[in-house]
Amino acid sequence: MFLKIQSLLFITLLAVTSLVSAQEWQQQRVDASSNPDAWIKKTSELIEKYDDQRQFEELAMAYALQVEAYRYSGHESKVHAAIDEGLRFAELADSKIAKTLLRINQTWYFLQRGQLRQANTSIIYAIENAKASGNKDLQIEADILHAQVMQNTGDIARALQTLEQLNRNAYTAHPRLQVEFHALIGSIYLDVGANDIGLEHIQDALDISREHLGQWDVSVLEYNLATGYQAAGNDEKARQHFETALEISKAINDDLGVAYALFQMASIDIENESYQQGLERLNRAMPQFKSAGAHPMEAQSRLAMVSAYLGTNELENALAELEDASSVINTLADDQLYQTLNERWSEYYQSRENYKAALEHYKTSVSYMQKVREQTQDKQVQEIMVRLEIKEQETTNELLKKENQLQQLELQEQQTSYYLLVWIIISGLLVVIIVSAFLYQQWRARKNFAELALKDDLTNAPNRRAIVRICKKGLEQAREQQRQLALAVVDFDYFKAINDQFGHDVGDRVLQRFAEVAKLSLRDQDNFGRLGGEEWLLVFFDVSKEDAKNIFERITQEMNSKPISGLPEDYRITFSMGFTNAHPEDSFDSLYKRADDVLFEAKDKGRERLIITD
Ligand code: GH3
Ligand code: MG
Ligand code: MG
Repeated sequence: MFLKIQSLLFITLLAVTSLVSAQEWQQQRVDASSNPDAWIKKTSELIEKYDDQRQFEELAMAYALQVEAYRYSGHESKVHAAIDEGLRFAELADSKIAKTLLRINQTWYFLQRGQLRQANTSIIYAIENAKASGNKDLQIEADILHAQVMQNTGDIARALQTLEQLNRNAYTAHPRLQVEFHALIGSIYLDVGANDIGLEHIQDALDISREHLGQWDVSVLEYNLATGYQAAGNDEKARQHFETALEISKAINDDLGVAYALFQMASIDIENESYQQGLERLNRAMPQFKSAGAHPMEAQSRLAMVSAYLGTNELENALAELEDASSVINTLADDQLYQTLNERWSEYYQSRENYKAALEHYKTSVSYMQKVREQTQDKQVQEIMVRLEIKEQETTNELLKKENQLQQLELQEQQTSYYLLVWIIISGLLVVIIVSAFLYQQWRARKNFAELALKDDLTNAPNRRAIVRICKKGLEQAREQQRQLALAVVDFDYFKAINDQFGHDVGDRVLQRFAEVAKLSLRDQDNFGRLGGEEWLLVFFDVSKEDAKNIFERITQEMNSKPISGLPEDYRITFSMGFTNAHPEDSFDSLYKRADDVLFEAKDKGRERLIITD
């Protein structure tokens, strides 16, 4: 046991001497990338040792290496504290190289967390110290990282400018710088949609890192290449490279790297509607992003979960994730994330069939998209953009299509409610019409019955009940209005003989003729009706005896004015009539009786005559 520790110490001492000697630390960074856990342990031992010996320059370098090892294993929370400690000692020793390395790592740390302003401050310090150190490679590394910060803040034009200058002036053969250069320029090309060129650069970076850099670097490039393939729509290749990145991250215990790969694989799952698998992966990645303070990734994971929940129609879960994502994104000031967030809100409201809100969010998402695009449309990027015009056109078309689609949905909704309204009105009208028709029919039927009850079938004239009622009413009216009511009873002479001689039908026709004639001969205020058989009642208001005579003569004349079929042309139809004015004390019966009496008298006196009584 003792021996083992001794030999370990010996190795450590060897490492320490070489650490400060020359450019060895570059190789040690590569080792740390392949074996972060071992290097965390190793640097801890070194830190303890140098702390004891008050060797601040070595201490600062040990911290710088430890920070990288922490970063490679995804220990973001430890990264922060180690940077602070390291910078303290780097200041004490005024170690420019340690300061540069620590500031570079600090920049990565802030980029990871989406804290772009802080990242920008850190990289400025890194550049200053790199210059002061006189180490060319470190200067270039800091410059490339500076360009990376510019890319993250959306200032692609300046990022390209910086990289171009590096390319022309100070290109170096150092593999790390080549890798970073190709990786960044590839990522910028992917950003602006030049997928082929972007993929080429990242593939170059990957090849170089496989040969010269550590496993962590390889995993990052596998990951970047995969996102490139994903952007280019090659899901199969993307999946392969994410899988490789995942395996490497697992092998070096880089939990954050595992989370990144899981997140991307989940987004492919969700795109292919494997929602459950996507959710399962996101649930594994999320805690890692959260604990690492990788806010942009946490936000993106939540947004991906929203998509998955919308896919499985779990709207409550989608809403919860949307709200969490909103509060994370509100702290980040990242237009791209705002754009995606609004797109998800739009999709959520679409699922809720709230097309108005969906359209509002979609419009907001489009305005963010335009903002992002404006940032990338600086003069410097124009050249690249020209080649990408087709892609741009596609995006615009997609936008228009989507907007159109949403407006269509909104319109549909409006139309649906419009149709519903029309339908309600129509069915309401139908009900009214049907009910009205039914009521009208009822009313008609009742009216018919009432009419039938008051009409004589054969002649259509008022029947006995009707004319008696009219007469009774007339008596009341006459009393109230001081008018003179008169009643006449008519009976055909020898009617039986007509029936006997010419047939019952002919008799019927005679009765019908009387109804016609009476109707034409009487004034509007007068009435008549069939009492029964061939006996009729005539009810008059305010007629004189003279008038009664005239009426009797007119009806007799009219009855014989034209021939009745079945009767000989020279056949003369006659009737007798009893006429009387009503007295104030008369009832219908007394009135009728008086008229009937004089009718009888007329018959008795030879028929075909009118007899009037008072
Ligand atoms: P009079 O001059 O005495 O009145 O002699 P008449 O034959 O008219 O005698 P009466 O009034 O008693 O006879 C009525 C006849 O009217 C008897 C019946 O056959 C006939 N009659 C009653 N109702 C109808 C009817 O609806 N149609 C026809 N064709 N004949 C009817
Ligand atoms: Mg009779
Ligand atoms: Mg008769």
